[in-house]
Amino acid sequence: MSTIFSKIIRGEADADIVYQDDRVTCFRDINPAAPVHILIVPNKEIATVNDLSDEDQVLVGYMFLTAKRLAREEGIHESGYRLIINCNRDGGQVVDHLHLHLMGGRPMGPMVVR
Ligand code: 5GP
Repeated sequence: MSTIFSKIIRGEADADIVYQDDRVTCFRDINPAAPVHILIVPNKEIATVNDLSDEDQVLVGYMFLTAKRLAREEGIHESGYRLIINCNRDGGQVVDHLHLHLMGGRPMGPMVVR
């Protein structure tokens, strides 16, 4: 299931990486929907939320803690931000490598289009 995100994680494709360690790679979205739009991506190749298993519990928590820390570093922790994970077609997932969107820097508007 390797996607462009695996290439970014391995340093084989360019991205504006803001943080990387042995568990996650975080980089700015190439087509940002907000002044701050960072993708928090597990280095492990997990396609969708549907593909998470019990062994990923700590990793998913770490993704959220990383998002919280990056929100503070980007100066949007007080104004607020939105965290989104899309899953499959109706969820709007385009890249089949699990990722958490961190978006902020402006009011994010209604949660979904009605
Ligand atoms: P999804 O719709 O799958 O939840 O979100 C995928 C996101 O990845 C989109 O916001 C899209 O702009 C971003 N994206 C897709 N390809 C690339 C890429 O090659 N580099 C970066 N930095 N972002 C990408």
